[in-house]
Amino acid sequence: MLILVVAVSVLVLLFSYAQPEPRQISTWQAAPMITKADQPGNAPLPVIPALIGTANADSQLDLRVDDGLYVEQRQQLSGESQQALQYVIQRTNLSPNSVIIAVLKQDPGCGIHGLADTSNRVVYAYSCESIARNRPVNILAHEFVHQLAHDRYGNAHLNSDLILLEGLATWGAGQYWLGGLPDFRSYVRKQREAGIRIALATHYSGLGIAGMNALYYQWGSFVEFLLERYSREQFDRLYVSGNSTPGSADYAAIYGRDLPTLEREWEAWVDQAP
Ligand SMILES: [Zn+2]
Repeated sequence: MLILVVAVSVLVLLFSYAQPEPRQISTWQAAPMITKADQPGNAPLPVIPALIGTANADSQLDLRVDDGLYVEQRQQLSGESQQALQYVIQRTNLSPNSVIIAVLKQDPGCGIHGLADTSNRVVYAYSCESIARNRPVNILAHEFVHQLAHDRYGNAHLNSDLILLEGLATWGAGQYWLGGLPDFRSYVRKQREAGIRIALATHYSGLGIAGMNALYYQWGSFVEFLLERYSREQFDRLYVSGNSTPGSADYAAIYGRDLPTLEREWEAWVDQAP
């Protein structure tokens, strides 16, 4: 009996020893955690609230805010959204064909997420009064890039390889998604050091919120890698060569190496200290 008790205690000890250390919450995780994918599904699109009078005639942006949301902060929100749009235009070297409607929607569950209805030039960020206003602006920065990509690549954008579609929008949002880190390479290096490594050609459905966010950052840094190592012209051709599925773009034809080969180069680049 005593032997059994000792054996059980040893097993319990071994089991507790094998428990992973709790993860440290560090500043790099302070970037926007989105709570839903931002591609329009089959659900009806949300209602667009009336203009609140913050747009001016020469603006590239028409901001609309749900009744009762950020009532006291709309002037600041208008300026900050304009600033975010100018930032992503400059960073991506893409420009809007015409005015973009940005809508801040009240999320009943106080989630933070976005949606880009680029065929209708409307982007949405969902938030609630208790969420600091910079967070929906961070989401808008990402959604703006989806619109700029549609304007640049036309309807082919809608069938772009999901790695590139979300990777471009995430990379393009730059400082709005980096939580103070200098680039996506550094961000993903920290993710990898924390043991978070997901194959690039993975769909986010079923990964959960944290997994989806981690994958978006990986895709952002993969786009950063392609733009740094190869030409923009190659990236532009790659962007229009897919069929929506992650990994569907014609990497081999454009870079002379397939996605698994590029993925290994990207991992080595991420893990290498600059
Ligand atoms: Zn997106």
